[in-house]
Amino acid sequence: MIRLAIQKSGRLSEDSLNLIRECGISFLSSTYKLKTEATNFPLEILFLRDDDIPGYVQDGVADLGIVGQNVLVEAGYPALEVETLGFSKCRLSLAVPRGADYKGVGDLEGKNIATSYPEILGRYLAGEGVKAQLHTISGSVEIAPSIGLADAICDIVSSGSTLLGNGLREVETVFRSEAVLIANQQLSAEKQELLDQLRFRMQAVRRARR
Ligand code: ATP
Ligand code: ZN
Repeated sequence: MIRLAIQKSGRLSEDSLNLIRECGISFLSSTYKLKTEATNFPLEILFLRDDDIPGYVQDGVADLGIVGQNVLVEAGYPALEVETLGFSKCRLSLAVPRGADYKGVGDLEGKNIATSYPEILGRYLAGEGVKAQLHTISGSVEIAPSIGLADAICDIVSSGSTLLGNGLREVETVFRSEAVLIANQQLSAEKQELLDQLRFRMQAVRRARR
């Protein structure tokens, strides 16, 4: 039996469940349960907050997980990735107030930037040779400039309409992300075999979708 952690409710949930079903795996799902067992594959599914998934897979509480690369890299476990899944594509971008004078990333020197991704943003800015003050906030990052909390933000963007609605202009792409399958690095031989079977099915599903 292998344990897979997926997001309980959010942007990854439906596509994660659909992928498992398209792999030919059946299970009873209910929105209030914490876990469920597949009926035709030795798989147990755990429903968790996405932020908790990388740490649980690293520690072996779950063997496998489905999570966004943004959350995986921010958590500091990029090496757990075993398969890109092609959904939940988004990017982490820097944005400034629409009227702000911005010519390049150097203009952020000494500025206050609000983000939920201090690790990824910190590495990006260091690579650009820019020193800024990062303020970590867990939600509603896009309102920070309008309430005077920050000069710029770094947040997840898919269409850009949320930024526009908050009077912000996207100026730099910091990181591109999609959903990935992650795996604990010390799986037993039996679990490794199950992982290989799952990856084979997932690859077939992706090929069929194209
Ligand atoms: P949780 O309650 O589980 O912590 P959350 O609010 O942190 O959920 P969601 O908003 O459901 O997270 O997003 C989950 C993941 O989906 C993100 O980490 C990112 O990888 C991806 N994602 C976020 N926003 C978008 C978007 N607009 N379009 C596509 N994918 C997105
Ligand atoms: Zn989350």
